[in-house]
Amino acid sequence: MIKVSVIGAGTMGSGIAQIAATKGHKVCLYDTFDGAIENAQKKLNKILNRLIEKERITKEEKENILNKISFTKDIREIKGSKLVIEAIIENLDLKKKLFKTIEDLVDADCIIASNTSSLSIASISGACEKAERVIGVHFFNPAPLMPLVEIIPSVQTSKKTMDHAKSIIDSWGKITVIAKDTPGFIVNRVARPFYGEAIRIYEEGIADFATIDWSLKELGGFRMGPFELMDYIGNDINYTVTETVFTAFYYDSRYKPSFTQRRMMEAGYLGRKSGRGYYDYSKDMPKANQDRNLGKKILWRILSMLINEAADALFLNIATKGDIDLAMTKGVNYPKGLLSWADEIGINNVLEELKKLQEEYGEDRYRPSPLIKRMVKDNATFY
Ligand code: NAD
Repeated sequence: MIKVSVIGAGTMGSGIAQIAATKGHKVCLYDTFDGAIENAQKKLNKILNRLIEKERITKEEKENILNKISFTKDIREIKGSKLVIEAIIENLDLKKKLFKTIEDLVDADCIIASNTSSLSIASISGACEKAERVIGVHFFNPAPLMPLVEIIPSVQTSKKTMDHAKSIIDSWGKITVIAKDTPGFIVNRVARPFYGEAIRIYEEGIADFATIDWSLKELGGFRMGPFELMDYIGNDINYTVTETVFTAFYYDSRYKPSFTQRRMMEAGYLGRKSGRGYYDYSKDMPKANQDRNLGKKILWRILSMLINEAADALFLNIATKGDIDLAMTKGVNYPKGLLSWADEIGINNVLEELKKLQEEYGEDRYRPSPLIKRMVKDNATFY
């Protein structure tokens, strides 16, 4: 079993360390900030105790997991690792500095991976002399529970690094998909309309938050509605991801952030964690207008935009069709893969909806992917 090091003992880092230790690796979990290591230790202890209560692990297993992890503030302890996963705060300069330090400490055959959500792997790799051993491994929160990991080779990453990184993460029981090193990778790119188009529908006064959420859940089978989900993720985090993706795509209007969410963030209405977001959690939840015709229109508009985004990701070779569908079902719990869903409802119907929206609003935001137009012309399906 190789030694694995995790840099940054926050939400993601401690989850990743838990997975690696559970799978039997010797793990070094490093953080530089006062209190971070102690917090991670306490949090992990609590999580493992809960797993004992649920009879998912035994007391001995808990001890084994904890014994495998060395919690440290001394980065030299990462020596001898064959895989280092970086999960510090989202800051390119800090990450680059860190990657150089890591490279100076580990052996030549050690893979150095970043869990970044939004930075380019190519830019992080640039800090390393052997950039071919650097790769993105993007876990989802909470890392021990969410099955998906996006593997992101950059232009510098070698095939050997990619195959090896993938096989390690696969051996941890995760579902891996390969994504191109482009903004948002698969999930954070394809999911944008779930939030953006829902907010737009609200802004136009077509329906309120509760009605939009009801439509997506009741008629679409989504586990959570967009506003519930944004409140769960946090409006600060969700807004920042949207803004980052928008900027990184050279201000493509398809990813434009909204004032509604920006104001929520500015007001401190961050969602569940602040007690108030789109919903006020100190009060009863508002009732949805359960008009099925209205609900279908809402679902149809958001779903068409999601399918357009998934098709465009395929058109631009961001990932294979299988991986695009897997990413959305395993990374964000969509009830179906968007491309197989498109086959079910007919891609010609999706094109009709997009054309209708584009004509009505005259916005580039609604432009159909060339792949969809081509498929309709050729009478083709995704599968
Ligand atoms: P976090 O703020 O919970 O944890 C970051 C940790 O890094 C903190 O404990 C901090 O003390 C430590 N740190 C900061 N600078 C450091 C340095 N120079 N050396 C060592 N430790 C340092 O953040 P998080 O939510 O766990 O996110 C970490 C990374 O994972 C980010 O790149 C983020 O984009 C990505 N990510 C986050 C999520 C999520 O939902 N939170 C999901 C996927 C990916």
